[in-house]
Amino acid sequence: MTTSMTAPVSVEDLNHLFRTSVLGVMVHRDMAVLYANERLAGLLQYEDADALIAHGNLGPHLPADMHRRLRERWSNIIGGTEALERNRLRHITSDGREIWLDVTDECILWQDGKPAILSTATDVSAAVETNESLLSSLRRLEASLDTILEAIPTGIAIFSASGRPRIVNSAMRTLFQEDPTPNAEVPPVVTELLARMDSSDKGETVERGVLTPMGRVVDLVARRMDDDAIMLSATDVSDWQAQQDKLRHMAERDALTTLFNRRGFNDAVKPALRRMGDKGQPCAVMVVDIDHFKQINDTYGHAIGDQALKSISHRLMTELRDDDVIARIGGEEFCIFLPGCTAETAEGIANRLRAKVSETPVTTRHERIAITASFGLKTWDGSAPPKLRELVAEADAALYRAKQLGRNRVVIA
Ligand code: GH3
Ligand code: MG
Ligand code: MG
Repeated sequence: MTTSMTAPVSVEDLNHLFRTSVLGVMVHRDMAVLYANERLAGLLQYEDADALIAHGNLGPHLPADMHRRLRERWSNIIGGTEALERNRLRHITSDGREIWLDVTDECILWQDGKPAILSTATDVSAAVETNESLLSSLRRLEASLDTILEAIPTGIAIFSASGRPRIVNSAMRTLFQEDPTPNAEVPPVVTELLARMDSSDKGETVERGVLTPMGRVVDLVARRMDDDAIMLSATDVSDWQAQQDKLRHMAERDALTTLFNRRGFNDAVKPALRRMGDKGQPCAVMVVDIDHFKQINDTYGHAIGDQALKSISHRLMTELRDDDVIARIGGEEFCIFLPGCTAETAEGIANRLRAKVSETPVTTRHERIAITASFGLKTWDGSAPPKLRELVAEADAALYRAKQLGRNRVVIA
């Protein structure tokens, strides 16, 4: 086919070349059909080429909103200012259906001696339809993905390679902001995580136990995606953490008095004792046992006994410093650790506690119960690293002597 306009092209030329071609071929000028082959007539649903030529007008077969642009294009092609590019165009058939044609337009000199447009067309309706149905599936998939992202309790955010948030789901917004607007600033902990991700080869970076501005505790996981974007997920572990804290509390506390139990005491004192050993600082351990407590139970009942235990615990606790550790290690037996305490100070504290217990009776709704306690005290001067078990055993032995000596007294080991 020629693109030069030297020799005019006639109907015979085109019929010779294209009458039975699988390409649709048409010559037109100002929307007037000058020539069409059988294939094109078939595509536009005419009985034959003659019927299309007799109809003569291309206008109704092209979308009205394209007319201006097409006329401009054809005039540019004739003027030589627009390249010959394949153009995918919607066409309307004679019976009103839509078809998609890939059309190439070029300028020829028509048999009447004037330029005209030669269009060759292939039917791509099936491809367009497939494409459209793929696109609409994709759109539906994206919509379901959006719904899922908004519904799941895990916070999800996707950041572009430059660190700009592309997607932030509602769980992520509520975990990190009071006002969950999509355009709020990226929190510093996230920026740091992304920076760490950038400087590492690993596909995944994890930061556990991050406290969000909303007071929730989250595990953050950053994962690199195929396109170098980063997906950040935030799992709210606050409830789990609270449960863990509760379990730990239960394991190391005494339910009646809320003081440490023996296990909690050991866990709290051992590291403190190591610190004392490292620094060569003195400390003391005191074992306290309520005198004749069985009688109190027998006289007033177990419930009042419990109340007395709570009251004595509270009294001991309020007399101690923040660094001191107190535990209920048996029924009516307490253990107290006094870090950084010289023998003299410890003895003073033991005597003060003993006096405090014996001077103030435990008052319940109906009774005022006089209670005393015996104290065994073991002090340590910081010279050699002590063992907690040994300190407690020696304090216990001193307590035994205090009982033997008549109770309500302090005996130093
Ligand atoms: P001592 O002066 O020799 O220590 O005499 P005591 O009666 O205090 O000692 P004993 O070991 O004979 O009795 C301790 C009592 O403490 C017996 C037990 O019923 C009571 N007890 C232990 N645990 C609890 C508790 O949780 N609540 C109450 N109400 N009583 C308890
Ligand atoms: Mg006892
Ligand atoms: Mg006792």
